[in-house]
Amino acid sequence: MNIRDFQKANVERCQSGSIIEGKPVGGFARRIDEWTLERWHCATSGELGEAANVVKKLFRGFDLTTGKDAAQLREQLGHELADVFAYLVLFAEAAGVDLEAAAIAKFNEVNARIGYDKALTGGGGLLSEQEVRDTLGVLGVAPAAVDAAVARAKRAVSL
Ligand SMILES: [Mg+2]
Repeated sequence: MNIRDFQKANVERCQSGSIIEGKPVGGFARRIDEWTLERWHCATSGELGEAANVVKKLFRGFDLTTGKDAAQLREQLGHELADVFAYLVLFAEAAGVDLEAAAIAKFNEVNARIGYDKALTGGGGLLSEQEVRDTLGVLGVAPAAVDAAVARAKRAVSL
């Protein structure tokens, strides 16, 4: 699995199925464009808040309500972070962002800026210049900044 495959599978599950007696069956029966970006952002942030609540309990070392110990809380934290990621890819889809391409482009952009001499690749190969340009464009990066990022990425990849 890669991020792009997960995004595609999660979008498919989100949009499949139906609601029967108020409960999702065979998918969540929700079109991605049914929610605004604000709602997707809220859902993603909500899961991050749930993760923060688990971290609060980890500071204490146990859950006062359920009696979960630190090991159980760490497992729960993993579940909450997975929820964050599941909503994040749907949020990205709603925004028209290929999250894998965006993550790789941004990671490589920062690498180039700080002089870290490695670059990530996606799908078993290097991102094409057009993929980088498309992704940064969708993110609203100014054309001059896109040109600079592409130049930096080329330098990073050639190291
Ligand atoms: Mg959750």
